[in-house]
Amino acid sequence: MAKIAMKTPLVEMDGDEMTRVIWGWLKEILIEPYVELKTEYYDLGLKNRDETDDKVTVEAALATKKYGVAVKCATITPNADRVKEYNLKKMWKSPNGTIRAILDGTVFRAPILVKGIDPFVRTWKKPIVIARHAYGDIYKSSEMLVDGPGKAELVFTDAEGNEKRQTVHEFQGPGILMGMHNTEASIRSFAHACFNYALDQKMDLWFAAKDTISKKYDHRFKDIFQEIFDSDYRKKFEDADISYFYTLIDDAVARVVRSEGGFIWACKNYDGDVMSDMVATAFGSLAMMTSVLVSPDGFYEYEAAHGTVQRHYYKHLKGEETSTNSVATLFAWTGALRKRGELDGCTELFNFADKLEEAAKNTIEEGVMTGDLAVLSSLPDIRKVNTRDFLLEIKKRLDKLLV
Ligand code: NAP
Ligand code: MG
Repeated sequence: MAKIAMKTPLVEMDGDEMTRVIWGWLKEILIEPYVELKTEYYDLGLKNRDETDDKVTVEAALATKKYGVAVKCATITPNADRVKEYNLKKMWKSPNGTIRAILDGTVFRAPILVKGIDPFVRTWKKPIVIARHAYGDIYKSSEMLVDGPGKAELVFTDAEGNEKRQTVHEFQGPGILMGMHNTEASIRSFAHACFNYALDQKMDLWFAAKDTISKKYDHRFKDIFQEIFDSDYRKKFEDADISYFYTLIDDAVARVVRSEGGFIWACKNYDGDVMSDMVATAFGSLAMMTSVLVSPDGFYEYEAAHGTVQRHYYKHLKGEETSTNSVATLFAWTGALRKRGELDGCTELFNFADKLEEAAKNTIEEGVMTGDLAVLSSLPDIRKVNTRDFLLEIKKRLDKLLV
């Protein structure tokens, strides 16, 4: 079979640890034999981020703006231990944070449902998609340790030099302090992204925040969503027979658990960070979750929702066998290839992505899976395989689907 040609390169962002190992094998076994792969490669592995003073991360984000579609491997966000382990020049920021700050946008995370892996929540029958606002709040904040008594104030100086001032707290002793922000423009594009995605997927949209406590900050999110819904989407939602509804975040949590799924749950940045791990785990596993950042300008960055699976990597380095699930990384690749195919009018690439996903699901549904799923699956006959063999098992099924 001739390899599928690509018109425009994908932006490829390599990463760290076990997911970097999987990245190489996945390309070697499941992509390069079938696709004349064109990528612009950026090595976001921690060593190279350190060597380039993290410029590589910024360059990769800018390349995404140039080409439109990126695929990203999981990366280490350094903490004090990592600074020692990798002898880093400094504690570099989260690459995802850097990329999201440049691209703006919303991260959509949806569980990958397969037969045999049943949600922990018995009522859940359909996927719950988390739409996470990917800009601002605590991820773009300024923090301070307060050493002793004193007054903390919020000061805003406008372009003419006029000041607005407000007391945050009169400290009697040591404490902590944080200032965070969001922008009207980013909240608006978040709202549009959610409404459009809901129409695209024909799913209801829920949005929740804490407007009763945060009467300005969270309330502004609520008002902007309502305004945009009323002016631009109410009619379209009626025509599509879907609904939009706002509720308090704590009420939303209760409703989500009692629901049968089948809706999009729009979350502010931090809520989305926490809730997407909760939803993914309750649906089975973080390794069975797709994740895509959609920017307001129509750029797409596909990634896995989980981290670099450090514990498995150390086993791998010692030469021990690992059984790490590559499904989320695989769906990052298929998501990116499918979108590239769609944008370039290349149906072959589009169809290949579909087939590769089908092959991965078939593998698991036929009882062949990695350790994380083997302990969850309700299938009668299960064969647990190692990291590389799992990819080879997918290849067997892919080859059958492609003839
Ligand atoms: P993690 O890599 O997501 O792994 C946490 C645990 O979840 C693993 O130890 C493993 O459990 C299980 N797990 C996650 N993915 C799995 C997979 N594909 N297959 C099988 N099991 C899987 O989180 P972490 O260990 O807290 O973080 C490691 C590094 O990842 C950190 O340096 C962090 O900064 C980074 N991180 C990156 C991203 C990103 O780039 N998007 C996101 C989160 C974290 P068992 O060990 O019990 O098998
Ligand atoms: Mg997280």
